[in-house]
Amino acid sequence: MQTIIIGSGVSGLICAATLAQAGHSVTVFEQFHRAGGSTAPFERDGFRWDLGQLLVEGFGPDEPTGQVLAALGIADRVRVKQDDRRYVFPDFDLLKPQEYGGPRWRIERLKELFPAESAGLERYYRDLIRFTRLMTAARKVEQAEGPARLAAQARMYAALLPFFTRMNWNAQQVMDNYFKSEQLKAVFMSILADFFTPPSKFQGLGVFALNPETSFDSRVPAELAPGAVQLHYYSILGGIGTLVDALVARIVELGGQVLPGRPVEKVLVENGKVKGVQDRDGNVLPADVVIASGAVNEVFFNLVGEEHLPADFAARVRAQPLMDSVFMVHLGLDYDPSVHTGGAVAYYYGTYDLENGISEAAQGLYHEGRAGFVVHVPTHHSPEMAPEGMHAMTIYTICPDRLSEGTWSERRVEFADKLVAYAEAHIPGLREHTVTRAIMTPDDFHGRLGVDHHAFGGLAPWLGTRRIPAQTPIAGLWFTGQQGESGGGTYAVIMAAYKMAKKIAGK
Ligand SMILES: Cc1cc2nc3c(=O)[nH]c(=O)nc-3n(C[C@H](O)[C@H](O)[C@H](O)COP(=O)(O)OP(=O)(O)OC[C@H]3O[C@@H](n4cnc5c(N)ncnc54)[C@H](O)[C@@H]3O)c2cc1C
Repeated sequence: MQTIIIGSGVSGLICAATLAQAGHSVTVFEQFHRAGGSTAPFERDGFRWDLGQLLVEGFGPDEPTGQVLAALGIADRVRVKQDDRRYVFPDFDLLKPQEYGGPRWRIERLKELFPAESAGLERYYRDLIRFTRLMTAARKVEQAEGPARLAAQARMYAALLPFFTRMNWNAQQVMDNYFKSEQLKAVFMSILADFFTPPSKFQGLGVFALNPETSFDSRVPAELAPGAVQLHYYSILGGIGTLVDALVARIVELGGQVLPGRPVEKVLVENGKVKGVQDRDGNVLPADVVIASGAVNEVFFNLVGEEHLPADFAARVRAQPLMDSVFMVHLGLDYDPSVHTGGAVAYYYGTYDLENGISEAAQGLYHEGRAGFVVHVPTHHSPEMAPEGMHAMTIYTICPDRLSEGTWSERRVEFADKLVAYAEAHIPGLREHTVTRAIMTPDDFHGRLGVDHHAFGGLAPWLGTRRIPAQTPIAGLWFTGQQGESGGGTYAVIMAAYKMAKKIAGK
């Protein structure tokens, strides 16, 4: 079976490895000169930074993503370390305590900060455990077969019962039900700004999924309560490029090819069936199966062509809500900034007003770092990502894909200076200790990912969106990745790509 995969992001590579293992003859086309898409590393002056991944979920040997890597034969090539993220708000800081305070330490700390909300916090925590039971049951349904699957489904529906009346609530409604304080609500919802999704448009129960206690302190055990198992979060040692390189090597070992610098220009379709692809040099490559990843609009309107799509499908493609972009400053430092950041990943929020921040970005207004930023120090876990004794740091903010005033190329240096100044207020000595600096704007991502609009995490997870199914209306053409059915995030993308590839392989 000749299979062509468009895009060497993590979704395309997982499909390629799975299908090569199942005996397909696999070729991956990548338009950029290096494989990896958002998960390709960026290198300069002996420093290496990650672009599109900070912490990855479920990479442990008994967890779903870890099991996928084991099934593909690369678990021993991707070393990981349990890790966590810190949240800093304008008036308080949720730094994990040096001495572990048990799985409820965050709830107890929030009760100290917001004593009037103690009862709401207890109700929230009780529901977090219930929701975790629901997710645990849902994962078991995915893994089970035959009568065991039916039993797992019954347990899942039982776990769903406590949430029955709240199924259609949005995130704002769910939070209003527990808390009065806008600051406290922001503790649980602030990450939605990263998804360009206002609380009023986010599936309410999803708030629990955004806040596993394991992600704020890796010492929290996976089993929060009987039957309620959270996944852990991990840093990939050596950076996410390690995963990309391991997948590429495995595909080649299995007889497949990965071709960087080979953009696909057309998906060839005849009588509703895929026939192959044409690359930018005009070469025609026949295929029985084509799997496309990347940008949903570019794939269906530029590569496939609207003339091949049913009208309702084309309308559905147009209706997919996309995130916007990120503005990044990568620094090479001659001191260790993680004494100030407290670890590898810290989120610094500058506002509690999520709805407004998100609507400003949609109008092309960039907050310049005022509304918050994320700091990632990969050398905290992987010293080899910098010359000896030095450290790599990335500071990034969400931003509009296009500015309402001026262009990214005109304003990049001014914005980088401002972002570093905001970060320096929390991390003293940044400018003085900078030995190298690289700026990345949405324009850089357009080139790296071959997209007209950079949606950094793919689809914005808005309530009520009918996503594009993996199996398209064109026979033999499949669509995967962060703008597909799964939405973004390494975990979602890997699990969906693996499941889809297994289906194509008939397994
Ligand atoms: C700053 C940032 C932080 C993030 N943080 C996290 C995090 O902490 N945890 C987490 O789990 N996830 C995180 N993510 C999200 C995660 O990295 C992505 O969801 C995931 O990597 C997307 O993979 P993908 O394969 O769907 O897409 P992509 O990586 O975009 O891959 C698509 C590929 O297709 C190629 N392509 C496009 N058009 C063509 C063509 N015509 N011909 C050939 N090739 C083509 C592109 O060049 C690209 O390589 C983050 C992302 C960013 C940017």
